[in-house]
Amino acid sequence: MFFPWGRRARRQKLLQSPVPALWEETLEHQVPLYGLLPADLRTRLIGKARIVVAERIWGGGDGLAVTEEMKIVVAAQAVVLLAGDEGYLYERLPAIQLYPEYIAARPRRGDGGPHVGVRLGDSWQGGNVRLSWPAVFEGAEDPQDGSNVVFHEMAHHLDSLDGQMGGEPPLTTESLQKRWPGVKVEFQRLVQQLMHNRQTWLDPYAAESPAEFFAVVTEAFFEEPAGLAEHHPELFTTFAELYRVDPRAWFEQ
Ligand SMILES: [Zn+2]
Repeated sequence: MFFPWGRRARRQKLLQSPVPALWEETLEHQVPLYGLLPADLRTRLIGKARIVVAERIWGGGDGLAVTEEMKIVVAAQAVVLLAGDEGYLYERLPAIQLYPEYIAARPRRGDGGPHVGVRLGDSWQGGNVRLSWPAVFEGAEDPQDGSNVVFHEMAHHLDSLDGQMGGEPPLTTESLQKRWPGVKVEFQRLVQQLMHNRQTWLDPYAAESPAEFFAVVTEAFFEEPAGLAEHHPELFTTFAELYRVDPRAWFEQ
């Protein structure tokens, strides 16, 4: 039996309790992005991250003992993708598993099969997200280098919420539905450019598949928003509409 009001009450109680000192310390030292965020957004994201830490199942693979700090570092980054959203809090993500090293790649098995990451992590249709702890740590270290494994794998997870991890997340507005064909055009353009050995601003890994394109553009959108807006203005506008934020403001000072 599932009582949503029970969950609401639990969340309220959690958010009314003071933010533990460990959170401030961990964010300061390990998630420098939080030092750049506007104060109100920072407070809201910490609240969301506390809920994710409390409600998700956390596991360690290959003998890794998952610490509270590790959960904070992962959750604090995961909720950045939800900065503009007031509904979803990863309720449909069963578990987050952390690994002590890079994860061995697995073969792709088509739709519904495992998604193969670049051995930094992976995300499974309707399933868990697995992350290499060293990769999570490195991804957080520089919030403006365009590379963040948590953003990448959580983007795959969001993409999978419509039942298919195919590069098109649930599009909730008519405007987004109208804009999305433009994203597919940009994907095709990237594939073409690489075929002709042209330099691309986006990480060439984005050309692997529409799903990778979505995950890589998400990383660029949150870590290099000004660059994405300059080099791919339409993609930027579409992703700003999808995520309902403009991360350029975070990096202005
Ligand atoms: Zn991927």
